Amino acid sequence: MNYYSTRDSERNQAKTSAEVIKQGIADDGGLFLPESIPEISLDFIKEIGTLPYSERAAKILSLYLTDYTYDELLDCAQKAYDTGFGDFAAPVSSLIGDDLRVLELWHGPTCAFKDMALQIMPRLLSLALKKTGEQRTAYILVATSGDTGKAALEGYKDVDSTKIMVFYPEDGVSDMQKMQMATQEGGNVCVTAIKGNFDDAQTGVKKIFADAEAKAKLDKAGSFLSSANSINWGRLAPQIVYYISAYADLVNEGDIELGEKVDITVPTGNFGNIFAAYLAKKMGLPVNKFICASNSNNILTDFLRTGTYDRNRQFYTTMSPSMDILISSNLERLLYFIAGAEKTTKYMKDLNEKGVYTVEDDVLSVIKSEFAAYCCNEEDCAKTISNTFDKYSYICDPHTAVAVKAALDFVKDENTGYKNIVASTASPYKFAADVLKSLGKDIPSDMKEVLDTLSEITKTEVPAPLATLFGKSVRFTKSVEKSHESLLAEVLSF
Ligand SMILES: *Cc1c(COP(=O)(O)O)cnc(C)c1O
Repeated sequence: MNYYSTRDSERNQAKTSAEVIKQGIADDGGLFLPESIPEISLDFIKEIGTLPYSERAAKILSLYLTDYTYDELLDCAQKAYDTGFGDFAAPVSSLIGDDLRVLELWHGPTCAFKDMALQIMPRLLSLALKKTGEQRTAYILVATSGDTGKAALEGYKDVDSTKIMVFYPEDGVSDMQKMQMATQEGGNVCVTAIKGNFDDAQTGVKKIFADAEAKAKLDKAGSFLSSANSINWGRLAPQIVYYISAYADLVNEGDIELGEKVDITVPTGNFGNIFAAYLAKKMGLPVNKFICASNSNNILTDFLRTGTYDRNRQFYTTMSPSMDILISSNLERLLYFIAGAEKTTKYMKDLNEKGVYTVEDDVLSVIKSEFAAYCCNEEDCAKTISNTFDKYSYICDPHTAVAVKAALDFVKDENTGYKNIVASTASPYKFAADVLKSLGKDIPSDMKEVLDTLSEITKTEVPAPLATLFGKSVRFTKSVEKSHESLLAEVLSF
């Protein structure tokens, strides 16, 4: 299976999956996609449902990562999913009402869905280095506003031939997130706070990626810079697995017939998770529609409804921060499938130069036949958390609540009669203070008490990765100036 950039209309630059996982983004600025989408049969889906999650993952990934052996993929998947995710990595365990099913993607070591990809991607990268004859260490550099940094640290921790440095804004992450990062274990990890905001951290990291002198120094020291960014195919491919897995589970439970269609709702930021669901449909998963759920940063709702993507708008900070995004990078992959490389290149040029592009009517109508889009403001998000708890005794985090609201709106509008699989992307405990507030409760000042209060009210257990944080020793306390020189000094000295 060869891979090409979304901007390579002539298909000149064929790459293997190991090469694209190592490289991340294409030289022309586009994103990598496989030359064709492998097909799966209903029998395949049924068989998948009888296997442990790691075997489901190995079987599905082997259709795409053809330069890895099945045994290599199985080994990566077992190390990623067999421990650290509880009994089953991606359960569709809880029911909300007649039509909604919740696919819980947060049973991993950081309690958020990014673990589903970041637990396996570093192992795929480590193998990619061997396959491409790379002698140097992959040095992962991350700027984070919270969740990605911790998930990347947990994923790369003690993985061969890699090391990772995470920069976070000193006053721009929650206390819980700070504690999660400061107590990070592993011999190849480093965490540094910077005196500035998230933009400062991101700009700083981008500058280092663009600094030829820095790269030469790192090369001499035996490493090269690499990113854990969600546009990497190695992060996207593992996300296809759980949609097929969830469907197979619903069939096994007798909730749907094999071949019956479902709708899928995804709380969306960078468009990676929902695009993985779209690929599952292209492979043959019986899906009717995808419902793209956004918070107050509703740029995708506008685009999917009108065909105009306009980033010239206000940015809101919400209680679903992982969806506070104005540039949804993975949308480029959808545009490529529907409009082709040439038009996609032009849209991205317009976005870069003017901050806006509009797709043609025929492109929009294809998009609309596959995607519905809804957004949810902060008040409705809070109401959804409390209503869902009152009505179904199910507690969701703010990101999931945005999706539940979208799914309910969609069911009201279109009444398809299909079961609706709602992706749940974070444990409510990860955003415990906002959840308590949404339930109308007082928020204790002590972090541990916040978790315990939520546990008492909901009669659920605090997830072990969060409960055990309080006994861990703090390893990283350093905070540095935000200048290029100061960040670079940190990078070079680790
Ligand atoms: C990253 C993230 C999202 C958004 O996923 P995308 O793939 O970027 O669309 C949603 N919810 C949570 C909790 C996340 O961490």
